[in-house]
Amino acid sequence: MSSHTRTAIRIVGMQKRSLTRAIGRGLGRRCPVCGHRGIFRSWGELTDACPNCAYAFVREEGYWVGALIINMAVAMGAFFVLFVGTMVLTVPDVPWAPLLVAALATMGLLPIVFYPSSKTLWMALDLYFHPSPPPAPSGTQAR
Ligand SMILES: [Zn+2]
Repeated sequence: MSSHTRTAIRIVGMQKRSLTRAIGRGLGRRCPVCGHRGIFRSWGELTDACPNCAYAFVREEGYWVGALIINMAVAMGAFFVLFVGTMVLTVPDVPWAPLLVAALATMGLLPIVFYPSSKTLWMALDLYFHPSPPPAPSGTQAR
């Protein structure tokens, strides 16, 4: 049995798993199929395939727009909670200058910090809702 076949079996098995597990693996920067941790070559750069289960991470052009949307949504959500939460808790004496600094730091740093997790979270959600096996890694053939 090829590694691609084993991966396809794991993907079919993942259909029965919970959305919570998929989100946990995504947030934990783990492989969406097997949960293996060592899937990043560097900060934000995935390997071509999972070293444990050979699930391919190379996708068609435009695939990672979903990760970008997740990353921006998390940053905007954090900004909204920070901004509105601070205003509600401190009105009428809102500390505008510290709030501005904190908001700029949130919007500037959070997308960078969350970037790898946004990619794995996108892959996990995509696999959960569309559990079709990805193409075999280049150089291998499914048998
Ligand atoms: Zn894996």
